[in-house]
Amino acid sequence: MRVLLLNPPGREIYIRDYFCSKTTKSNYYFHPVDLLALSGTLAQEHEVAVLDCIAERLTPEAAHERIDEASPDAILSLVGSVSWDEDRAFLAIEAEAQRRILAIGDVLHENAEERLADEPWLEAILDDFTTRDALHLLARDEAPILRATWRRPDGSIHHRNEPRKGREHRLPRPRHELFPKSGYHFSFARKTPFATLLTDYGCPWPCTFCVISTLGHSTRPIPDVLEELDHLRAQGTHELFIADQTFGVHRPRALELCRALQERGDLSWTAFTRPDLADDELLSAMQSAGCHTLIMGVESADEAVLAATRKGYTTDIVHAAFARARSHNLRTVGTFVIGLPEETEASLSQTLDLALSLDLDYMSLNVAVPRFGTPFRAQSIAAGLTDPTNLTMDQSGATIALPTHSLTQAELARQKRRMIRRFYLRPRYLLRRALSTTGPRALLTEAREGLALLSRNTLVRRRTPNDRHTVSATHRSSSGV
Ligand code: SF4
Repeated sequence: MRVLLLNPPGREIYIRDYFCSKTTKSNYYFHPVDLLALSGTLAQEHEVAVLDCIAERLTPEAAHERIDEASPDAILSLVGSVSWDEDRAFLAIEAEAQRRILAIGDVLHENAEERLADEPWLEAILDDFTTRDALHLLARDEAPILRATWRRPDGSIHHRNEPRKGREHRLPRPRHELFPKSGYHFSFARKTPFATLLTDYGCPWPCTFCVISTLGHSTRPIPDVLEELDHLRAQGTHELFIADQTFGVHRPRALELCRALQERGDLSWTAFTRPDLADDELLSAMQSAGCHTLIMGVESADEAVLAATRKGYTTDIVHAAFARARSHNLRTVGTFVIGLPEETEASLSQTLDLALSLDLDYMSLNVAVPRFGTPFRAQSIAAGLTDPTNLTMDQSGATIALPTHSLTQAELARQKRRMIRRFYLRPRYLLRRALSTTGPRALLTEAREGLALLSRNTLVRRRTPNDRHTVSATHRSSSGV
C-alpha cells in the first residue's frame, strides 16, 4: 500500500505530537515523534511518504493537491485538540477520495470509541505509536492489535487497551530521511541540522497533570538507538533533541547510552531529566557525551502543590540539582507550571523567587492545562472547572484554560506576564545571556527569540484570557513548555 504519514495544515504553527497539541508563536518546531516512530514501522511493509504541512507551511488547498499527487491508499494523520475542527474538516475531505484514514493525537487519547462514533470519516485511532498496530489495522488483522480503536467495514466499533508488557520495545529505524529537510527549528540546538530522537516511551512517574504519565514506560534497546544515531551521523546530523521525557530512568542504561555517544565524539544534544535523578554521576556522563542543555521540571515553589501533583520531590532537591547541573557546565532550563487550582498570588510570587534563586539560563513558564487522559483533567471535570464536551484546547497553556480557586483567568494571565518580565528583563541576566552566546549568529537567534517572548508579555492586551505564550522547550510535564 501507499501510506502517507501526515501532519495536516493549520491556521497557526501547531505542534501536535506525543499526545499533546499546542500552538507555537515563536519559530520553534521539531519533528513529530509519533510520525518518526511510525515511519520505520510502516516502511517495513508499505511504501511510505511523509507530508508535514506545518513544516512546509502548506495551505489546506496546497496540502490537498500534494496528497492527490502522492495518491495514498491510506493516511495516518496527527490530529490535535488545538486544531480539532480544522483537522476533522481537512481529513473528511480526504476520506471522500476513498482513502482510509487512521489518526493519533491528544483529542483521541480519551473516550476513543465515542470519538470514532462521532467521526464517520475516521477508520481507526492509534493509542500508542511504538506498536505494530498500524500495520495490523491496515491489514485488517485484528487479533494482534494492542492499543487502538477501530471501525470494521460493517460499521461496528472495537477498542483494545492491552497493558504494556515488559520494559523494552523495538522500533525499526525511524526514517528521518522522509521528513522535510527544512522547516524544523529547535532553539537550544547548537548546530544545524538537528534531529529529534526518542530512546524510550512514556514515563514511570505519576505526576497528575502530565499525559506522559498515562502511557506506562518502556525503553528501546541501545543497539537500535545507535543504529538510528549512526544513520543520522552518516547523513551529516550531529545535533540532537533527545525527546525522552525523563532521561536516565534506568541508570545503567543511561550511562551505557552516554558512553556510546561519548565514544562517537561528534554529537551535541539537549535532554530532559528530573531533579531527583540529576546527580553527579549522571550529569557528568551526559556532559561528557555532548549534552549542553538540560531541562528539568521545577513546577512550583509551593511544597503543597508538588505533593498534590505527585511530583515526588521537594524544592531542596530542585535547588541542589540545578546547582550541580551548573557545576557540570550545563545550560539549564527550569520548567514551571502555574495556575493549578491551589495557586494564589502569594504562591506565584514564591515561585518567581524560586526561579530567580535557581540562577537558570531559561525559565519556561506554563499554565496548567487539563490534558486528555490525565488525573488532573478528571479532577478538574469533577470540580466543574472543565467542560468535558469541549474538545478544543491549546495545550501550550497559552490560553489560560482554568481559573484557580482564588485567581481569575485574566489575573493569572497578568501574573504570568509579570513573572516573565521580572525574570527576563534583569540587566545582569541579559548581560550573562549575551556573554554566553557562542558567536554572532547565536546572539542574533537569542535576541530574536527573546524579543518574540517579551513582545508577547510586556503589553497588556484586550484578549487577556486568550493571551498566547510559548517558550522554547517542549516538555509535556509543564503543560507544554
Ligand atoms: S512530569 Fe515529567 S516526571 Fe512527571 S510523569 Fe511527566 S514526564 Fe514524567
